This record gives sequence, structure tokens and C-alpha cells, in this order.
Amino acid sequence: MWKGIISIFILGPIVAGIVSFTGCQGNMNTSAASLLPDTVAVDSVAGLIDIISEDTVKKKGYLTERWRNPVQILVDTLNPISKDSLDRFVRTERRRVRDSVRGELNKLPKHVYFTFDDGPLIGSSAIDSISKAKNVKISAFLVGRHAKMSKRLKRDLQRYKENYLVECYNHSYTHAGNRFTSFYSNPVSAYEDFEKNELDLELKHKIVRLPGRNIWIYDDIRRIDLKSGASTADMLYTNGYKIYGWDVEWRIHGASGMPVQPVNEIYTRIRNYMDNKSSMEPNNVVLLMHDDMFQSKKGQQLLSSLIDTIQTTTDYKFEFIRDYPFRY
Ligand SMILES: [Zn+2]
Repeated sequence: MWKGIISIFILGPIVAGIVSFTGCQGNMNTSAASLLPDTVAVDSVAGLIDIISEDTVKKKGYLTERWRNPVQILVDTLNPISKDSLDRFVRTERRRVRDSVRGELNKLPKHVYFTFDDGPLIGSSAIDSISKAKNVKISAFLVGRHAKMSKRLKRDLQRYKENYLVECYNHSYTHAGNRFTSFYSNPVSAYEDFEKNELDLELKHKIVRLPGRNIWIYDDIRRIDLKSGASTADMLYTNGYKIYGWDVEWRIHGASGMPVQPVNEIYTRIRNYMDNKSSMEPNNVVLLMHDDMFQSKKGQQLLSSLIDTIQTTTDYKFEFIRDYPFRY
């Protein structure tokens, strides 16, 4: 029925092949795609035979690409098909391919990124100690102005820098004075604020998180949450910076240590993002926290407890943002 109406190019059978190949190997680190033969003939629904080149099959990030674009269709404009039929077909096909890809990704390593914004603040020294006690990597997006507020915070900044489990990144010098729209309305001065932060804190990595914005620009990704901030982010990217947002945010009242979301809830959210592949990059989940959430003993215990839960019940690896994303 489809023949002669539309040409459809489907990779579904290959994905099914990946599942069985890797299942036999049982090796978490084996690249699934590399187990495939150099070329594969695929029967499409339209009855066409298509040859997949070696490059397409073996490319790193193949599963990520298939997750993002589960159905690839070339529509024959001379013999159009009804939109309803096409939509129905695409829906079914998308579900089928994504189920296969999800199963395959679930067998591969998973990565979690604990990111802490706005330090140094009261709370930073506790984060520093917990990262060492639990042996987990953490990413600190720092605000230079805060390091100037007291001797203690300057010392806490130093502790971060000397801890090999902490990497320091750029969150602007002034934190936009918490007036985000007006800050981003002048991209040049905003850009200079990040530059000043880099110089002041002697930051080694050109990695930025924008205050008040969940914006991602890196590699082939550009995702903007609010337009205000986009020009600044683009300017940073053009000048060699990578900009990272977050998937999940955890909030705790700093002074009391009372969580807005209990440990269990945030743990479940991280797991759901990982299992459903709903994070920005499948198998990679970025958690946002703020240094001042961990001022009190209670808050600190919650952070330790979240790390313990992840370490005892999952095989997630704690990673630095510098290594984001791991693509399969
Ligand atoms: Zn911030």
C-alpha cells in the first residue's frame, strides 16, 4: 500500500539488531554500533533496499541521534499521502524505534553531574568536605564577587581550587546583580562580566552557566529558555565558551535545611530522567543545586544521603561538566 506513494527510510531493524548483539556480549562498555557489519541492507516499508554506510553506523553518538530522530522520512511530493496515515505511521514507528534505543541505552553507562551554583557562599566548605568524604566529582559555578565578601569565603574558594574532586567554572562576576533582564539587555557588558570573573578567579575552563537562565550552547546543541540572555550566550559561545543549563533542580531552605523536595523525591526525579531518557542528553543527568542550601547540618546530611542513595542503588558515575555529554 505504501509502495509508490512515499519513500520511507527506516533504521528500526538495525536498532533491533543492536539489542541482540550487545545482549550477547554483555559488555557495558562495548560500543553497540561497532558490532554491526560495515554495511547493512534494510528493507523499508516502502519496499526499498537501502545501504547504510560504515560511517553512519559506527559514528559515536549514533544511539543519541536515533533517540532524537527516530523516524527519517523522505516524502514523495508527486504522490502525496494523507496526513493522517503519515502521522499514524510516524507515531508507531517513533515508539518502536525509541523503545529499542531506550533498551540499548539502558545497558550502557549512565552519568550524573552534581552542579553547585553561586559559590563561594556559606555552604561551600561543607560541599567541599562531602565531595572528599564520598569521593564524588562536583562542578562549582562560581561568582567572583562572593569571594570578595569575607576572608572565610576567600578561604572556601581556595579549598575548592585545591580539591581535585571539584572543578571551578564561570557563573559571572556579579551574578547580574540579580537583575537578569537588564543585565542581559547589554550583551557586551554582560560578556565582560564573565571575562572579569574568569580573570579574577583564574578559571582554567571556558565553561559557563548563565545566572537566572537555563541556556545550553555546546557542540551541536543550542537551547534557549528565555530570549533575554540568548545574545550574551551566543557571544560567549562565539568566543570559545560552552554554556550549560540543568535538567533537574533541587531546592532546600538554606538556613533551616528544610528541603522543598525531600531526598527521595529528587532521587526519583533523577532516576526518571535517566530511565525515560528525558534529560537534555540521554544517559546524562545534570542536577542543579546552590551552595547556600548546605549551610546547616540538616542540609548537609540531605546531600550526603542523596549521594549515598545514588551510590548504593545505581551504577551512575559522577562526572565533571567538562566531560559532558557522554554520547553512545
Ligand atoms: Zn546563580
